[in-house]
Amino acid sequence: MNYEPVIGLEVHVQLKTWSKLFCSCSTEFGAEGNSHTCPVCLGWPGSLPVLNEAALKLGIRVGLALNCKVAERLKFDRKNYFYPDLPKAYQISQFDMPVNGKGELLIETKTADGKMIERKIGITRAHLEEDAGKLLHEGITDGSLVDYNRGGIPLLEIVSEPDLRSPQEAYDYLTALKAILQYVEVSDCDMEKGSLRCDANVSVRPVGQEKFGTKVEIKNLNSFKMVQKAIQYEIERQTEAIEGGETIVQETRLWDDGKGTTFSMRSKEEAHDYRYFPEPDLVPFTLSLELVKSIEATLPELPMARAKRFIKEFGIPEYDAYVLVQEKKLAEYFEACVREGAGAKTASNWIQTELLAMLNAKNIAIEDCPVASKEFAGLLKLVEAGTVSGKTAKDVLQEMAATGKAADVIVKEKGLTQVSDTGLIEKAVEKAIAANPVAVAEFKAGKQKALGALVGAIMKETQGKANPKIVNEILQKKLQG
Ligand SMILES: [Zn+2]
Repeated sequence: MNYEPVIGLEVHVQLKTWSKLFCSCSTEFGAEGNSHTCPVCLGWPGSLPVLNEAALKLGIRVGLALNCKVAERLKFDRKNYFYPDLPKAYQISQFDMPVNGKGELLIETKTADGKMIERKIGITRAHLEEDAGKLLHEGITDGSLVDYNRGGIPLLEIVSEPDLRSPQEAYDYLTALKAILQYVEVSDCDMEKGSLRCDANVSVRPVGQEKFGTKVEIKNLNSFKMVQKAIQYEIERQTEAIEGGETIVQETRLWDDGKGTTFSMRSKEEAHDYRYFPEPDLVPFTLSLELVKSIEATLPELPMARAKRFIKEFGIPEYDAYVLVQEKKLAEYFEACVREGAGAKTASNWIQTELLAMLNAKNIAIEDCPVASKEFAGLLKLVEAGTVSGKTAKDVLQEMAATGKAADVIVKEKGLTQVSDTGLIEKAVEKAIAANPVAVAEFKAGKQKALGALVGAIMKETQGKANPKIVNEILQKKLQG
């Protein structure tokens, strides 16, 4: 029997505010333990929470970007559970009246046979809640330490519908979601700092069956790759179990990245009963339509819309467009290059290969790129005009990054101008033909590969500066003539 997975994702994103969700403590990351705490976020009796308006606005911003129905009236609730990182023994969250209701996210994904398709993934809700503190175990032998600096930092929990059907789709959903969160500037989305976290709900069912199988929740997923791997593992584990006659139990499992497996953390019987009830210290309130409209008016062009515009306006391939828009700064860099006169296809290719490779090697982000988009466009224009060969241009790029000089200056100083003088090239071609009779004979016998040796000899003769297009033309003519 064939089985298909049913996957839903819960993403927690820390909203980028200066102060916490219900008090004025700082949200600064990496401060000394428990230095950003007060009676409110420590849950002292008699202290009262006050909602942070900036956090509410960021939450609405995300909702609008995900086409969610923003609530007219909303409420906060207490989610009760006992754990040392939660000083009040309840978390202020939202239960039945979340700030954002149903929405959707369009994603670009690849099918198993490598075809690019567009999929619409439903968003169930996106609600506000406060983060918990953090337990520290490392290097401590007699117990654990707790740091409440994180306690009370605003989170938005974005819950997807169980619409995802493969680990690849889950990965692409997360990538698309992260891009949107960065475009609307609500979070730094740094998984290493924990400002973006993801849990996955996975079940399998026989293909054609409508009813969902029993779902398992996987936690402890610290990167998108881990999410993909954990889901893949879980699909195989569940399918094998069902085929072996076992019943899947509803449970929470943790991912062990070292072993590449999931293991049981708690079963349904041990699951929390959160006993939600309305937070009595925060009354339900109505959102004004003007506020929502004013936030909507400030939304930027979103990644999917930008990709579609790139394809239409610049004629670049679909795949290129989606890679370029994943990162806002990269998309802006590309667009700036084209506005400076570089050809769109050339700019797209060079950014995705040479420029990103250079940045990766130096471990720097595109916003800190040592070669400004205007300068990079200058280099690309030299390539397109045939002034320098592609090979030379790669070296020039490195030189530009190291010295900050413009491409044309480097080319002039070092005498790197490509030789397009047909007379000179013709001489080099004749010399190469005379010196390589074996390659010539092989080519004439139908071996296209033999051309490589001849081109190599010509390039050596011209110190790599001959225009490859002209070399090819003359060489073909001479050999056939
Ligand atoms: Zn506080």
